[in-house]
Amino acid sequence: MKDTHKHQGLRNQLATVLEAKGINDQKVLQAVRNIPRHLFIDSSFEAHAYQDKAFPIAAEQTISQPYTVAFQSQTLAINSGEKVLEIGTGSGYQTAVLLELKAVVYSIERQKELFKKTSLFLPKLGYRAKKLIFGDGYKGLPEEAPFDKIIVTAGAPFVPKPLLGQLKVGGKLLIPVGDKTQIMTLFIRKSAKEFEKHELGDFAFVPMLEEKN
Ligand code: SAH
Repeated sequence: MKDTHKHQGLRNQLATVLEAKGINDQKVLQAVRNIPRHLFIDSSFEAHAYQDKAFPIAAEQTISQPYTVAFQSQTLAINSGEKVLEIGTGSGYQTAVLLELKAVVYSIERQKELFKKTSLFLPKLGYRAKKLIFGDGYKGLPEEAPFDKIIVTAGAPFVPKPLLGQLKVGGKLLIPVGDKTQIMTLFIRKSAKEFEKHELGDFAFVPMLEEKN
């Protein structure tokens, strides 16, 4: 696994591109500068790793576009030490961003192949999630709830109730909701029963795979 000055230069440029697109959280931009994204994707795409684009990974899934990762991370305003649940580990790139932001990360992946691959890969780069789980994101992670923040990185056909229920009061769930394209939707838990909802624009994600019974 090689990371060079050239890669570093490309990462700096990517951070500048993201800044021009409206990402202004310096900690998020620094995470983009720090993480060797070219190592998270197939080497055949290496030359393009620092373009602001999604790419195929294993099991017909994708590594999200850097802008999307940065937007979700900035919107959730992750603070050091917060307990964060991620649905859709995928390549682990978003997981690495959360870890750079010093969150305590639990991440669930539904595809076994990706779960195995990413579980081996992240520690090699020094990224240590609290727990990587092979399971179904629709259920969340009741045994570790409540969470400060929950981030969903696949397009959800509807908002899974358990995820709202697993937020702390004051906590935030960020989830792209819809079929072909999704509306990025932020829920803030105001009390045991009240949630504030904000719609933050259109995005395109691979679909969240169906619930497992
Ligand atoms: N954050 C990842 C995004 C990967 S794409 C990255 O940037 O690499 C979305 C991921 O969500 C895929 O890996 C997919 O397998 C996973 N996924 C889809 N449905 C899921 C579910 N029900 N529970 C957990 N993970 C799911």
